[in-house]
Amino acid sequence: MQGQMMHRPLRIADILTFAEDSHKTSEVISRTVEGDLNRITYPDMAARARQMAKALIALDISLGDRVATLAWNGYRHLELYYAISGIGAVCHTINPRLSPEQMLYIIGHAEDRLLFLDLTFVPLVEKLAPQLPKTLRFVVMTARAHMPDSPLDLLCYEDLLTAQDPHYAWPEFPEDTASGLCYTSGTTGHPKGALYSHRSTVLHTMLCAISLRDCLQPGRKILPVVPLFHVNAWGLPYAAPLTGASLVMPGPRLDGASLWDLMNDEQVFSAWGVPTVWLGLLAEIKQRGAKPVGFGEVIIGGSAAPRSMIDAFERMDVSVCHAWGMTEMSPVGTVGHLPPSMDDHPLEQRVDVKAKQGRRCFGVDLKIVDEAGAALPHDGQASGELYVRGNSIVSGYFANPEATAQALDPDGWFGTGDVASIDADGFLTITDRAKDLIKSGGEWISSLDVENMAMSHPGIANCAVIAVPHPKWDERPLMVAVAAEDIPPKKSDILSHLAQYLAKWQLPDDIVFVDTLPLTATGKVSKLTLRQEYADHALPA
Ligand code: ADP
Repeated sequence: MQGQMMHRPLRIADILTFAEDSHKTSEVISRTVEGDLNRITYPDMAARARQMAKALIALDISLGDRVATLAWNGYRHLELYYAISGIGAVCHTINPRLSPEQMLYIIGHAEDRLLFLDLTFVPLVEKLAPQLPKTLRFVVMTARAHMPDSPLDLLCYEDLLTAQDPHYAWPEFPEDTASGLCYTSGTTGHPKGALYSHRSTVLHTMLCAISLRDCLQPGRKILPVVPLFHVNAWGLPYAAPLTGASLVMPGPRLDGASLWDLMNDEQVFSAWGVPTVWLGLLAEIKQRGAKPVGFGEVIIGGSAAPRSMIDAFERMDVSVCHAWGMTEMSPVGTVGHLPPSMDDHPLEQRVDVKAKQGRRCFGVDLKIVDEAGAALPHDGQASGELYVRGNSIVSGYFANPEATAQALDPDGWFGTGDVASIDADGFLTITDRAKDLIKSGGEWISSLDVENMAMSHPGIANCAVIAVPHPKWDERPLMVAVAAEDIPPKKSDILSHLAQYLAKWQLPDDIVFVDTLPLTATGKVSKLTLRQEYADHALPA
């Protein structure tokens, strides 16, 4: 027997309309590329999104067309998330840190018709223009007064928007209509596109609102350092308007001092981003001797949060929530809140559990499997490749049948490429990315484990452990580290520190000190670059 309830298609635009009705005073505060601080309420933003929707239609954009953005975190970028998807077109966010070749590839692969760009990226687009499709048109996300002189035919965002009135009814279409497109950075081969739908996005938004409810509340201020140009800024562009949380958008300035100032001025409660960003903020807090006023929570994901970082934040009364996910999962998969039974546990124990990657969100199923694909127990011991299933997880890659065929197991679960264990309480521990594990003499060494322990040494500011080819053991670990002070600690000190936690064969064969570690387009330490750079590194005998 079928239920007798209405079936209304889930639509992204309804989230902003809800914010317009219910969260009238919540704001989006943006540090703009032009230099000023812009403040806009959700009702005003909803009106502007409708104007931009009409402007897109006037530019002949319709259902299914791909419209690209190349922009920092700011209010116009957020308006585009709603305007583009709202008319049934596809919002294709481009990561500006990709190489020019990768950018050209994805713009061609997506067949983008329009490209919205921040002023910052005008020189880049001018350089790429000769190789871009002749039909692609450009809109600069600024007002007329800031429009640059350019050999390109550039449209002006505010001119397009103000030419329209805000009276517009969002159209209806099936809820599985494509809404957004984001390419993974593709450490090997071409980038692959995750194509989201209205249904997957609205369900993911509700998943975020439930799972991250400490900060997703009316009036709370959240700072997304995680970019709108990658992984949907971890769902915030939708979850904040839905719940009435205000957003503080940092624009292009993401160094520790700029973040500290903005957070302090705006009294940001919760800040979201990858560990490398928080290293900068922690150094700034240390230097100024105080955390920004009102700072109470940090959401860390994208790569493993070192235990020492979690400890440092918790000791200054900033609650850490360690989350895991990926582009292909919209992206949130697990979230690291502790159960209330741990409220009065000592800090040490709480930090131990917070260093794990959290528990699954409602709507995300997890399984770990052995090399034959057989499911392994959730006992905290067994470790295997992590597979996921759910309504906000891709069922394939955009226009890429080969990658799609490789992505799913015979039962339709998506292979994450991560190696993990899951304990009896449901806490996930990511051991490594499968390709970053180090295989020494037939045994696996988790690079994340060694890094985590090394980061708790006061002489080490940041580090990465990679596999270097070895004639006898196949691979041996090499640590590439950034020292915390001008004079690096002695290698023997680091090794004896590590020996407290690790077996002898798990210790790095060598430690190399560098000024900085190379980063990927998504701000994570690039182990691929390091592996290439140190492939011929001579390990001490
Ligand atoms: P990219 O690889 O382009 O940065 P994603 O942001 O989608 O794209 O990366 C997802 C991957 O990042 C995951 O598969 C996992 O390897 C890693 N990751 C994400 N969050 C965490 C975390 N909290 N701990 C460890 N690894 C993480």
